[in-house]
Amino acid sequence: MSRIWVLGAGQLGQMLKHAGMPLNLDVRPVDIESEDTFPLEAHEKVTAEREQWPETAATRQLAAHPAFVNLNTFPILADRYTQKSLIDRLGLATAPWRLVETDTSAEDLHHVLGERVLLKRRTGGYDGRGQHWLREPGRDAIPDDWHEQAIAEQAIDFDEEASVVGMRGEDGQCYFYPLTLNLHVNGILLGSVSPLARLAHLQAEAERMLGTLMNDLDYVGVMAMECFRVGDRLLINELAPRVHNSGHWTQAGANVSQFEAHLRAVAGLPLVAPTVKNTSVMVNLVGTERNDDWLSVPGAELYWYGKEVRPGRKVGHINFCLSNAADTRAALDKLEPMLPASYGIVLDWLRSQLD
Ligand code: ATP
Ligand code: MG
Ligand code: MG
Repeated sequence: MSRIWVLGAGQLGQMLKHAGMPLNLDVRPVDIESEDTFPLEAHEKVTAEREQWPETAATRQLAAHPAFVNLNTFPILADRYTQKSLIDRLGLATAPWRLVETDTSAEDLHHVLGERVLLKRRTGGYDGRGQHWLREPGRDAIPDDWHEQAIAEQAIDFDEEASVVGMRGEDGQCYFYPLTLNLHVNGILLGSVSPLARLAHLQAEAERMLGTLMNDLDYVGVMAMECFRVGDRLLINELAPRVHNSGHWTQAGANVSQFEAHLRAVAGLPLVAPTVKNTSVMVNLVGTERNDDWLSVPGAELYWYGKEVRPGRKVGHINFCLSNAADTRAALDKLEPMLPASYGIVLDWLRSQLD
């Protein structure tokens, strides 16, 4: 049985492990805080479920392993400065930005980027944490501890947010899932739908952009590209060198999920263009207690991560891939009273995409 080590044992690592079972791949997620050492053998591959990690005995050992796939890509994409610089170097569209240096002032940033400017910490941000809007009440200046630690982005008045998940094999061959439409509220992903016919005309451009990036990095595995759609253009928001929340629907909606695709690529197994079934929807479960009634909703496929429930924390998701829009809408109607009232906007948004 081939063994693949995963740096990180959160839900993405667990779902990689789950996806490895039918292929008899022994996937071993490793807690990044662990001070243990692990019995890695020279030929065993190492991958990661996150782009950054603290220095611990476990991460030191895994990161020093010669068969750590894409090791050089992680520092480039984990720092928004080097990530944005890469996107610019390749001539790909992204939100205009500047590096926040020691002597950068808010005025300088407004001068170049306009009225609405979003500071993003260079490293460590996720789910909208590590963001700071300038010109909010009481927030005119750049906070001291954001100098040298952040980039500044022009606010994009986007029509909607979409992402594409792609995969690249050792031989350089790339395949992609269809664009996913995403709803983010306060910086956190709450719902996704894919595929949508009305986004199909943007697919080739999305694939060209992500393909260019993966080729430049000589990347092997699954990578996600989050975009803003502005009219007929896609602007890259950010990149993730790993499986991604906006690709969770592929567990229900494709013959090969993003998790299996990543494992196949890392293990050197054949990749294929994924066969996509009907339109899938995914509802993220954020800061909400588990409710076993969800399982009674026709078509619901629950992934519960077993984490402690805290406000704003992703604790699970539910996928649906039903045969038609009417059935999906009916399932969401049935789910709605089983979720906190705040989910109304998510379910309304999902239903509105199915029309
Ligand atoms: P993730 O959990 O996806 O890794 P993150 O914390 O890394 O999130 P971003 O993806 O950069 O942060 O931003 C989170 C959300 O904030 C975006 O999905 C979008 O809704 C909003 N946002 C980010 N950048 C901009 C921008 N330049 N203009 C307008 N909205 C933005
Ligand atoms: Mg991010
Ligand atoms: Mg993001």
